[in-house]
Amino acid sequence: MVDKKGLVKKILNTKEKFTKGAVIREPGSTKNYKTGNWRTFKPTIDQAKCIKCGKCWAYCPDAAIYKDEKGNFQVNYDYCKGCLICQKECPVKAISYAVEEK
Ligand code: SF4
Ligand code: SF4
Repeated sequence: MVDKKGLVKKILNTKEKFTKGAVIREPGSTKNYKTGNWRTFKPTIDQAKCIKCGKCWAYCPDAAIYKDEKGNFQVNYDYCKGCLICQKECPVKAISYAVEEK
């Protein structure tokens, strides 16, 4: 069994130097950092094939998929990093991709 109090005491008393990590000062701050310019692959949703299951939306690690006013799933290219998880997860292969052109 781990002695948590002892472990905390040990960490606080250590002479070891730790590298400072990033600090997130306010929630939702990732909105301020558009990550779309990192993209190598650009996904495109074929609305004719899409069955609107929402799997791409659920699996996108960057929350870069959204539903437009017509109820169609779209890619927000300001934040899409081109990981293609959406394309792999789409059950009807409605998402294709191309090499990003800058
Ligand atoms: S390629 Fe990756 S980041 Fe872009 S929409 Fe698909 S899952 Fe999200
Ligand atoms: S996973 Fe495919 S079928 Fe489902 S909403 Fe996304 S694009 Fe449409």
